[in-house]
Amino acid sequence: MKQASRTVHAGRELVARSPLAPDLSPAAVHVYTDLEDYDAVARGERPGHYYGRNSNSNRAMLERAVADLEGGEEGVATASGMAALYVAMLALAPKPVTIVATRELYGGTLALIRQDLEPAGYEANFIDMTDLDAVRRGMDGAGLALVETITNPLCRVPDVEVIAAVARDRGVPLLVDNTFASPILFRPLEVGATAVMHSATKYIGGHSDLIAGVVVGTAEAMSAARARSVRTGSTLGPFEAWLALRGLRTLEVRMRRHSDNAIAVARALQGMPGVARVHHPWLPGSVSHDVAHRLMPEGTGGMLAFDLNGGREAVQRMLSRFQMVRFAASLGGIETTVSYPEITSHRALSPQERAELGVGSGTVRVSVGIEAAEDIVADFAHALSE
Ligand code: PLP
Repeated sequence: MKQASRTVHAGRELVARSPLAPDLSPAAVHVYTDLEDYDAVARGERPGHYYGRNSNSNRAMLERAVADLEGGEEGVATASGMAALYVAMLALAPKPVTIVATRELYGGTLALIRQDLEPAGYEANFIDMTDLDAVRRGMDGAGLALVETITNPLCRVPDVEVIAAVARDRGVPLLVDNTFASPILFRPLEVGATAVMHSATKYIGGHSDLIAGVVVGTAEAMSAARARSVRTGSTLGPFEAWLALRGLRTLEVRMRRHSDNAIAVARALQGMPGVARVHHPWLPGSVSHDVAHRLMPEGTGGMLAFDLNGGREAVQRMLSRFQMVRFAASLGGIETTVSYPEITSHRALSPQERAELGVGSGTVRVSVGIEAAEDIVADFAHALSE
């Protein structure tokens, strides 16, 4: 089946009299009449559910669907993207190791490494993952590698194919945060990553109405991730799983529209007053132009950023003039939103650290939605007009 059809059907097997849309099963616990039967289900030798923290039918459907789309053996759905990252990292590196990670990591991931993993004995080496010499050096002696498919907010695309080959060569497990691309536009396991995770809060859910995460990998790695998720109680609740699967059903069409709209908005922004630079992987000036076209030939999703002359004041002026676009500190929803990294995703960094990453006081991140591209462009044109 093509990815478009899988997106609609993955995770379910319908038989006669099955509901076409999945029932929501909020039960915290299932009843049994036979001790041997309960024992077999609890051992995982027979299908079924017994306690909601361990498993639930809605969560299982979502896990199967994302695993199918990513081309992995198994998935584990968690209460948030951060929980997915945490259980995935500890499944791949249960004992303290050096983590080599992209220096442009999502702020929450950076905080997890600095405030939870480093005090527990892990070491971190943050590098520019678009610099393949730095990648080769960084992998030596590392016990886990972590990369995001599209960086936040400047939308650079590390060559995950080469990074995976280097990691494999050195025996370093590679975890890829594929939140920005989704399994529609890029599938890291196909190019050799060990595991892939998503903040399903973003594109998979797609409607800005749930918090969830999913990690996908081999059955062995996912068994470790699942066990930790169950022990720490970070498993996903049934309603969020049901909503996430409902959102996922339209992921393929949404990602196409997000991608088409984002490149159209990026091109239009280039000519608008006050816009110093636009960051989109497909623009000819992007350092990732060639890599992005090779790894994501169908599009790079809805994310872009731009630098506005005039700093915070100019950004505030634009925000107060928008008629449709909204300021919100998340991404991946059907609606176009902008975020201001200086006080949102990158607020924990010092001005110097932000400057080193290329994030200035005029940097605006845009999550381009699925509205008509003309309307999005018109709203930016109005908000930025002199
Ligand atoms: N990874 C990326 C790239 C993100 O953007 C986010 C959230 O913004 C996360 C992980 C964390 O996801 P969640 O907020 O669902 O825990």
